[in-house]
Amino acid sequence: MPSMNIAPVHWLPFGTLELWPKPQRVSEQPRRVRCYVRGCQQILATPSRASRGEICPEHRIRCHHSSAGSTYSYADPRHNIIASADLFAERIIHHPFKFESHRMGLEKSEDAVSWNVFRSLAELDSLHRVAELILGVPQSFEPDLYLWGIKISGDDFESWDLLRAARDRFESNLPVDRPLTEPDIALHLPGQYLILIEAKFTSPNGYYEQGPRRDSSSLTLAELLAIYHDSSLDVLDIERARQSTRVPYQLWRNMVFAEWMARLDSSSTIPYHVNLVRAGYEQQVAHEFGQLVRPNHQAQFAQLTWEEIYHACVGPVYRPLRQYFETKTAGLTKAFDV
Ligand SMILES: [Zn+2]
Repeated sequence: MPSMNIAPVHWLPFGTLELWPKPQRVSEQPRRVRCYVRGCQQILATPSRASRGEICPEHRIRCHHSSAGSTYSYADPRHNIIASADLFAERIIHHPFKFESHRMGLEKSEDAVSWNVFRSLAELDSLHRVAELILGVPQSFEPDLYLWGIKISGDDFESWDLLRAARDRFESNLPVDRPLTEPDIALHLPGQYLILIEAKFTSPNGYYEQGPRRDSSSLTLAELLAIYHDSSLDVLDIERARQSTRVPYQLWRNMVFAEWMARLDSSSTIPYHVNLVRAGYEQQVAHEFGQLVRPNHQAQFAQLTWEEIYHACVGPVYRPLRQYFETKTAGLTKAFDV
């Protein structure tokens, strides 16, 4: 643990109680700052293009400081994790199905937040509470949890067969070299519902706009709509999307995958797609994407906030998770409106 003298009952990453919200720059060439943990006197070189930066010997963090703002990262990503950290380190980091797992130690890692919240809920048999928020009706059964297409409930950590099938169907012949669709979070109750969740913490949803390819790994909007299309699907209005000036591409791909995977699961499985965001963020994208969902399927796309999940978790068993929400930082300041 980074600081043995704090010795919490439940381990939590550094939060609003431990961090200075305003970093103290000590020198510019090379750039050095005082360690971001309150009371720490260590002076540390910050990470740059030329160097990975210095690690505080007591708190085991690197302090990042640039024109983009201040943040920090753990030398050991397990310290960013509040539930089954060793399992996380052994089975998720470097998992062949997980793209960019080296970023898990960053303060702003949305993957670490996703694991912390959903793995905690799984261990408390409380995933159905999130399903209730999305479906709007009480749920008595626990769904299976998948993070980045890896089955998290249970011990096998296998890749999801329905996701592999969808990748084969839609992504076996992409025109550019790019990562395959990787739903951040999924809740699946076979035969009942299949929910794919695109999670956002500090980064916004991305759009493709009309016109040429933006970079060597992006699709054009026309390619997105042509590749992620199947005449059997009904939720999205492709004609309307073709006439739009821009489309949020992750939401489009996830909605297509959700519907196609639900059909493969069973004729009774209802697909849902959720954009999970912080309260007050990304409202415009939900409005725009909602207009691409056909009127009779409106209930199958929703925006949900992390804060709504927090408020659904009431009771002593949720105390560590609630404390995580209450103290979690992004850019050294309080992340969630709770
Ligand atoms: Zn320190």
